[in-house]
Amino acid sequence: MLFDTHVHLNADQFNEDREETIARAREAGVQYMTVVGFDRKTIPLAIQIAEDYDHMYAAVGWHPVDAIDMTEEDLQWIEELSSHPKVVAIGEMGLDYHWDKSPADVQKEVFRKQIRLAKKVKMPIIIHNREATDDIVEILKEENAAEVGGIMHCYSGPVETAKECVDMNFMISLGGPVTFKNAKLPKEVAKAIDLEHLLVETDCPFLAPHPNRGKRNEPAYVKLVAEQIAELKGLTYEEVTQRTTENAFKFFRINS
Ligand SMILES: [Zn+2]
Ligand SMILES: [Zn+2]
Repeated sequence: MLFDTHVHLNADQFNEDREETIARAREAGVQYMTVVGFDRKTIPLAIQIAEDYDHMYAAVGWHPVDAIDMTEEDLQWIEELSSHPKVVAIGEMGLDYHWDKSPADVQKEVFRKQIRLAKKVKMPIIIHNREATDDIVEILKEENAAEVGGIMHCYSGPVETAKECVDMNFMISLGGPVTFKNAKLPKEVAKAIDLEHLLVETDCPFLAPHPNRGKRNEPAYVKLVAEQIAELKGLTYEEVTQRTTENAFKFFRINS
């Protein structure tokens, strides 16, 4: 059984066939999922899906691309939602220097506020990082995020940084890019980081794994990610699925 630790089944891309997509995931052995909400529209839907389905959970946070839109009321709202029985983490949050909608200083401030909130409510965090690895690590250190720990979601940075994150009580979550033929770093990370610190995810509808690259991604494809990790580590598929699922239970504090 697999745990897809980062899905956006709350995205518009699934409006037509959300139920069928979840059914396909379950048929593929993907029993558990965390639906990640990241703004005013996607957060309520993440919670709704988690309420409607067994074995589905929600994470609530504010995406760095839209940091400039986050108000104090939004932060307050996320804090209130954190006590919902199916909310298992705060995020996604972080820094994204690829898009310039929100200036870096605004992103950093919103990131810090969410780390402080997670520490206040004692919940782990989910980190989104795009072209901002050094600043992310610096902020995680300064804010002592190790106190709550977290997930480096869809990690694609260097091995050294992954190790630094593991030392800060963070899990490394690998997604579709680990299956891409030209993706050197995620493959190195899959080999170098011990299985006890790894999680698997799709980040669907984005980043579909090979051979579905470029298509709409969906949770059933997380199988391809686990297969690739097994191959790279020289382990069986069963070892990888069992261990990463156990890791996710432990991380999200779910009693399976
Ligand atoms: Zn993300
Ligand atoms: Zn995401």
